[in-house]
Amino acid sequence: MKISERVRRLSPSVTVELNAKIAQMLGEGKDVIKMNIGEPDFDTPDHIKAAAKRALDEGFTKYTAVPGILGLRECICKKLLADNKLTYKVSEICVTAGAKQAIMNAVLTIAEEGDEILIPIPCWVSYESMVEIAGAKPVLVPTKEDFRLDFDAIEQAVTERTRGIIINTPNNPTGIVYPKEDLERLAALADQSDFFVISDEIYEKLIYEGARHVSMASLSENAWEHTITINGVSKAYSMTGWRIGYMAGPGPLIKKAAGLQGHMTSASNAIAQKAAQEAIGGPQESVELMRREFDKRRLAMYERLIQMPDITCQNAEGAFYLMPDVSAYYGRKAGGREIKNSVDMAAYLLDAAGVAVVPGDGFYAPKNIRLSYSNSMENLMRGLTRMEEALKGLRGF
Ligand code: PMP
Ligand code: GLU
Repeated sequence: MKISERVRRLSPSVTVELNAKIAQMLGEGKDVIKMNIGEPDFDTPDHIKAAAKRALDEGFTKYTAVPGILGLRECICKKLLADNKLTYKVSEICVTAGAKQAIMNAVLTIAEEGDEILIPIPCWVSYESMVEIAGAKPVLVPTKEDFRLDFDAIEQAVTERTRGIIINTPNNPTGIVYPKEDLERLAALADQSDFFVISDEIYEKLIYEGARHVSMASLSENAWEHTITINGVSKAYSMTGWRIGYMAGPGPLIKKAAGLQGHMTSASNAIAQKAAQEAIGGPQESVELMRREFDKRRLAMYERLIQMPDITCQNAEGAFYLMPDVSAYYGRKAGGREIKNSVDMAAYLLDAAGVAVVPGDGFYAPKNIRLSYSNSMENLMRGLTRMEEALKGLRGF
């Protein structure tokens, strides 16, 4: 059997693979507390489900236009204007099967063999692979100690082959929210060196501590021209399984991206599009309720984490992750087992404490582990108590 080099080189998504393993363990009746996956634990709000049921009852079950139904794209345009000060026409929107496909579309549309795409690290697990699938070269750029963009590093990394940079604010896994002045500086650089900013804003609604989400493309006409805005319904409306995201950008680029999608997956699911239209255009109360709940969990988890011996943790301003630095434990042993890195630490916490976390290595954060607070407060607190006990084992108690 011959597998293409392109696919052979890929390692599976760390987050997706780990989640499948945890699902299997839970299915076998194992006692595991999930803090691994980046998916809201709430149910999709009822009015959104009702829209999907209506679509089914009305027989809305056929192919739609590849870039999405007009009603949904109109809702997206209104939302982008009202929430993000972004002016897009319906012809500048392409609805996709999740934000994941929107990012993949964007990368394939702007980059080819030999081109370079910058990725500030730590970063979400899929960006690097997406660039590799496109045949382009991912250029990993370090961020500052507080995970803000490091412009010296970015400027150094830009070459004449740079076609884009993928940014994610609010950020998975760090929880940082990029301030407006950093985005302005990046916009100026994108204009000067003529590359695109793929701006992944999937966590925009989950924001805390008075932080403000600024959309890259809202900064100026130049910024708009150099930005592909990525968003979707997975996180804000707890709709991960519905698979609806979108990309917005200059018309000619979006048209080409939709052409590409027409060959790969065609339009996204018709029923899910109707549900997404209700999510984006309908009542928004559920978003704030979920955000407040996430905020409470974030604060409670942060307080517990910083009290754990030899653990440091930066608080998050957005998304639903905390990323404690556990590297002080590297080199320590429990029961003859040495913790050498974040992968060992995550495996140890799973085996010794029944707590599922993602190793930071998957995000280019080798000193850290990622804890998602998309679980009930009760489960999170139980999980942290177990984690505390397991860490005692490593301190020789
Ligand atoms: N971007 C980031 C940063 C993510 O964490 C995720 C994970 N869900 C996605 C994009 C993809 O989201 P979707 O479910 O819309 O494909
Ligand atoms: N984005 C989520 C995470 O980081 C979901 C899994 C994935 O698609 O990577 O855990």
